[in-house]
Amino acid sequence: MLKIGVIAIQGNVQEHVQAAERALDGRGTVVKIKHAGGVPGCDAVIIPGGESTTLCRLAWSEGIAQEIIDRARSGMPVMGTCAGLILLASRGDQEVAKTKQRLLGLMDTTVDRNAFGRQVDSFEAPLRIKGFDEPFNAVFIRAPAITSAGKGVDVLAKLDDRIVAARQGNLLALAFHPELTDDLRLHKYFLHMIPGERN
Ligand code: GLN
Repeated sequence: MLKIGVIAIQGNVQEHVQAAERALDGRGTVVKIKHAGGVPGCDAVIIPGGESTTLCRLAWSEGIAQEIIDRARSGMPVMGTCAGLILLASRGDQEVAKTKQRLLGLMDTTVDRNAFGRQVDSFEAPLRIKGFDEPFNAVFIRAPAITSAGKGVDVLAKLDDRIVAARQGNLLALAFHPELTDDLRLHKYFLHMIPGERN
């Protein structure tokens, strides 16, 4: 049985729990992680969207950030959506610097916290994702984007020349919210990143 953890400090927690449960289809359980001690027992962890400054601060103060880093470095898959994509990055924009966010620094990426501007708060776009036959209806909410990525990063999707989905080994970063649609393809793709799971 698989155990999937959803970091439950803040943000779109419940939607990810439900999407992961549906994607698991009885092959495991989903737990909410609020404190240190929860991450080490998981086979994979999801960092949801929310407000990245708050999420970041609490993840470090609760001791969760270090546990994610340690497990991710030993191969555990981590999916970061929206604010989660920001946390996974190594480098931020001036806004990240200004708020003194200490990112997890797991992916070789630079992020723009509010890449699509504040004027357009949210929108949906049919996204072509590498390896997927049909477009994915992606929901963007004050979305960030990856502005540059190192050689080891596989770009899975772009929107207006900005990287909005990327994978680096066991790490998956999405600028949008797959948990807000009924489409489970990305959650299933993520589960297949768990060692031993069929792809
Ligand atoms: N741009 C937001 C931030 O910097 C993230 C938005 C989201 O996760 N929906 O925190």
